[in-house]
Amino acid sequence: AAKSEGRRTYRIFAPEYDAKAKQRRQLELDLRQALLRGEFEVHYQPLVDLAANVVTGCEALLRWRHPQRGMISPADFIPVAEDTGLIGEIGEWVLRQACLEAASWPGQIHIAVNVSPLQFRSRTLALKVAAALAESGLAPGRLELEITETVLIRDDEEALTILQQLRELGVRIALDDFGTGYSSLSYLHRFPFDKIKIDRSFISDIGEPEDSSPIVQAVVHMAAARHMATTAEGVETEAQREVLRQLGCSQMQGWLFSPAVPAAKLKQLLAAQAAAA
Ligand code: C2E
Ligand code: MG
Ligand code: MG
Ligand code: MG
Repeated sequence: AAKSEGRRTYRIFAPEYDAKAKQRRQLELDLRQALLRGEFEVHYQPLVDLAANVVTGCEALLRWRHPQRGMISPADFIPVAEDTGLIGEIGEWVLRQACLEAASWPGQIHIAVNVSPLQFRSRTLALKVAAALAESGLAPGRLELEITETVLIRDDEEALTILQQLRELGVRIALDDFGTGYSSLSYLHRFPFDKIKIDRSFISDIGEPEDSSPIVQAVVHMAAARHMATTAEGVETEAQREVLRQLGCSQMQGWLFSPAVPAAKLKQLLAAQAAAA
């Protein structure tokens, strides 16, 4: 390639960039293989009703068991999957897997699945969601799709159309990681969400010197006024839970209750809850 670039162009070799590019190229190749080799797993993190203190749903979180590198965090490979377009196939696999699994849970438990910006804009999302519901037999009302604000800044009309298509299928929509990125309160008026997930950064600052409780309270009030539920992400302490409960937040998710666990373990947890009730 350097030759064909002509005699006036020069390639700059920076060893550290070269190594990074190689690593990334390898990751991309590995990602392509991972689906075929069955290296992906979906883990499930309970979503807990704060007033009743019971599990009412779970979030599907992707895990990659790499043969050499062990468990790789989605934070490390989702961005690459997004850049290369592989997220389309991977995301569809997660959606189908999560719906099949959730169909075996008690009827009132719902499943939340993350949808990446590229998946959201692919124009086939509604078709794929409908197919996953049909294949699994899961009631549409039990599926919740989590989208982030980044999908909304592109094209308001197009985003609104996609959201309405999904709504017509009967699935619920949650706004994930609210408060990060280009948060705009106007989104909450323009787009039809069922739930706002308040980002972990606000939850971890509750009771700290930079106390974020007033922000959390404002989001909870605003959501309630629009008939939207709220989920607090990353709840790690009893003190955080108590503040959130008092503020009227609907739901919590975090290590205080449980991290994301394999499907079999989640089933045990749900069975134990059903037995106790
Ligand atoms: P997210 O959707 O905001 O998911 C919540 C993340 O917070 C998860 O990280 C979860 O394990 C972590 N978490 C939950 N409770 C606690 C807590 O108490 N403390 C702390 N420190 N962390 C907690 P995870 O599993 O590493 O996933 C990271 C992100 O990767 C997710 O953030 C989501 O954006 C993305 N992701 C995961 N699975 C999928 C997927 O199937 N598709 C897409 N498109 N993205 C996914
Ligand atoms: Mg999420
Ligand atoms: Mg989140
Ligand atoms: Mg988050």
